[in-house]
Amino acid sequence: MSLNVIQSISDMQSISNALRKEGKSIACVPTMGYLHEGHASLIREAVKHHDIVITTIFINPLQFGPKEDFERYPRDTERDIAIILAAGGKYVFIPSIYEMYPPEFQTTISIGNISKSFEGLYRPGHFEGVATVVAKLFAATKPDAAYFGQKDYQQTLVIKQMVKDLNMGIDIQVIPTLRESSGLAMSSRNVYLSPKEKKSALVLQSALQTGLSLIRDGNRRRISIEESMKDILAGCPEFEIQYCNAALGDTLEMPDEFSETDQIVLLIAGFLGKTRLIDNMTWSSK
Ligand code: AMP
Repeated sequence: MSLNVIQSISDMQSISNALRKEGKSIACVPTMGYLHEGHASLIREAVKHHDIVITTIFINPLQFGPKEDFERYPRDTERDIAIILAAGGKYVFIPSIYEMYPPEFQTTISIGNISKSFEGLYRPGHFEGVATVVAKLFAATKPDAAYFGQKDYQQTLVIKQMVKDLNMGIDIQVIPTLRESSGLAMSSRNVYLSPKEKKSALVLQSALQTGLSLIRDGNRRRISIEESMKDILAGCPEFEIQYCNAALGDTLEMPDEFSETDQIVLLIAGFLGKTRLIDNMTWSSK
């Protein structure tokens, strides 16, 4: 079967309304395209649990800073379509920038504390852009559930907060980060990396593994965990650290000492050359 490609918001809404009337459950998988196996894993998981899976492809200018890579963000819609079909997806919503943000557009969604730290500090306005576009994509696709990757850990917390605060009634599912065999987290931006940088990028994964093993061994002192991770990162001077922290998995607060039962997230971001990389790992006693 071929893919249903929908470009207008009103067509998308009519299709979703009709499907809902038929009693179909709908899942939405928001992406910026240039899909890889990580995205495919979200689609495959959504297909397992829902009758209809709508993948969205939209490179959202609102979530890029003025000096970020919006213009050069990689694009390949034909390849994306093949990946969606192979993952079992049958619908793709690809609106234009004009369709999403016509000249008279004037509403944005701003989220509190959870969006202010980490990515929020280094990418001002990023989460406002993310929340606004995701709310619009939800309004267009009218899903029962939406699938996001743990790769963008803080984003999953921000979206959950928005869905709760605005009573959107959408079930948010978070899917583990898919990695290349080397351990590098898959990302559309990995195409920017030279072969040498791809090797250097493995330092993020080593630092996170080090942090996790300390926690596994019973260390709950935040600074000590962070220092050990930073020591590993220091072994790769090309990686310019923005943050390297351990935080509470649900609130991103950073107590001096974690308790035995806390869910902990280790978060790293920084630049390798011109490419910004982020990665994280979580630990839970349960
Ligand atoms: P993006 O196209 O980068 O905006 O990502 C779209 C969705 O795919 C987001 O929910 C990401 O967290 C998720 N995603 C990106 N990379 C991965 C990965 N390596 N594994 C799992 N999910 C991912």
